[in-house]
Amino acid sequence: DPKHFQPLGSWSTEDIKDAVSSHVMCTWSPGKAKNSLPIITHANHIYLYDSDGKEYMDWTSQAVCTNAGHSLSPRVTTAIHEQMNNLHFVYGGIAMTEIRARLSSLISELLPGDLVGCLFPSSGSEANEAAIAMARRFTGRPKILSFYRSYHGGTKNSLSATGDYRRHFQQDSSGFVKAFNFTPSFFEHAGEDEAERVQSALLMLEEQIISEGAETIASIVLESIPGSAGVLTMPHAYMQGVRAICDKYSILLHIDEVMCGFGRTGEMWGFQNYPGVLPDIVTSAKGLSASVAPISFVAINEKMMEFFEENPVGWGSTFQGHPVAMAAAYAILTEVLTSNLIGHVKSVAPIFEEHMRHCAEVHPSILNYRSIGLYGALDIATPDGRQPHATHEARTTATTRYFDSFRENGLLGLFRAPIIHIAPPLIINEEEIQEGFARQHRALDVLDEELGF
Ligand code: PLP
Repeated sequence: DPKHFQPLGSWSTEDIKDAVSSHVMCTWSPGKAKNSLPIITHANHIYLYDSDGKEYMDWTSQAVCTNAGHSLSPRVTTAIHEQMNNLHFVYGGIAMTEIRARLSSLISELLPGDLVGCLFPSSGSEANEAAIAMARRFTGRPKILSFYRSYHGGTKNSLSATGDYRRHFQQDSSGFVKAFNFTPSFFEHAGEDEAERVQSALLMLEEQIISEGAETIASIVLESIPGSAGVLTMPHAYMQGVRAICDKYSILLHIDEVMCGFGRTGEMWGFQNYPGVLPDIVTSAKGLSASVAPISFVAINEKMMEFFEENPVGWGSTFQGHPVAMAAAYAILTEVLTSNLIGHVKSVAPIFEEHMRHCAEVHPSILNYRSIGLYGALDIATPDGRQPHATHEARTTATTRYFDSFRENGLLGLFRAPIIHIAPPLIINEEEIQEGFARQHRALDVLDEELGF
């Protein structure tokens, strides 16, 4: 069709809609959902614009990844152009580059402890895939223990480690064991106070590990603050206890920082919210390039690094260590550091949390909220008043109407009913936070009404 030789931007909205309807596929939702999605034509700062000229605030940084918003500085675009012009690609298995050396050493500097070695796959799923392969090869043990309320990716082993979507999509892979997360409502009868409940949760985890055979478990994989599952911050003592169990049984602690890494929680790494907890393996993605290019990383400790100096990792992809993606990540990271973006997140976090608390206070449809840095979740009230699970079941009429109103009120974001995620780009300022919550309140008024409050 000669239409394909016309420049981008020249198709009419009708042309685009026709092609979407006939040829485009979706991933986690049934395909026909695509026909009701806005067609975004351009973006600026923390705002996106659709083909009707409607403005949306980026209210969950897309999939919690456009941390630097949508306007790139000339420093970043120049760095990417220069890398493209000098050397857009060389396969990482047959040659090295300056950008790969520099990004590896920068990531190692940003990580505490003895985390040194770096790989750069193209997505969080692949980073977890590689890390699972490495943990198995390094320990010679087959099993991976992860948690029910978790998301680790959509590839074979990262999906097997995932709890959230497993019920819907997973074809069983062997060697994956799931434990219960420490959520206050699950352990509410396990002790008088938090310290006792944490103790019960850790005893249960240790009992499970012993029952599985501790010597068969290669790694415990967990998000420092499970994100898709609803920003579930854990007590410090629980995370410290998990680290101690790993040490006791020589199990590797693999912390998945794909969503919380690079400042989302007000710390460079989500696990830095738990003093004294150092992982053996860290994976991250999203904020690494703030989504300017698809890139993730796996970092491992010194002992593992020594092992893999002599042994292959047993995982690979053509595009791991892609020079242009690494140049984008390096330029974004140096900006994050020089502009003290994480300091900014820390300074606006109390304002953000105050708005989150207010949402839960004034809207009867909201049962609870959690908030750390610019990472928040609201729970829509459940009939039994318990911590809801993010699900893939069809939305109800009420939550569908709520989500229509969310968009009509100029917000664009994820919605995994019955959890409302709020995680704007990290560059958002105080007035914009206020404006975003004003829009959020209008959508929650609709939810209150739909739920009969
Ligand atoms: N791990 C966590 C904690 C995530 O939140 C995600 C994606 O949301 C992934 C892994 C998978 O990353 P990707 O979608 O880049 O493959």
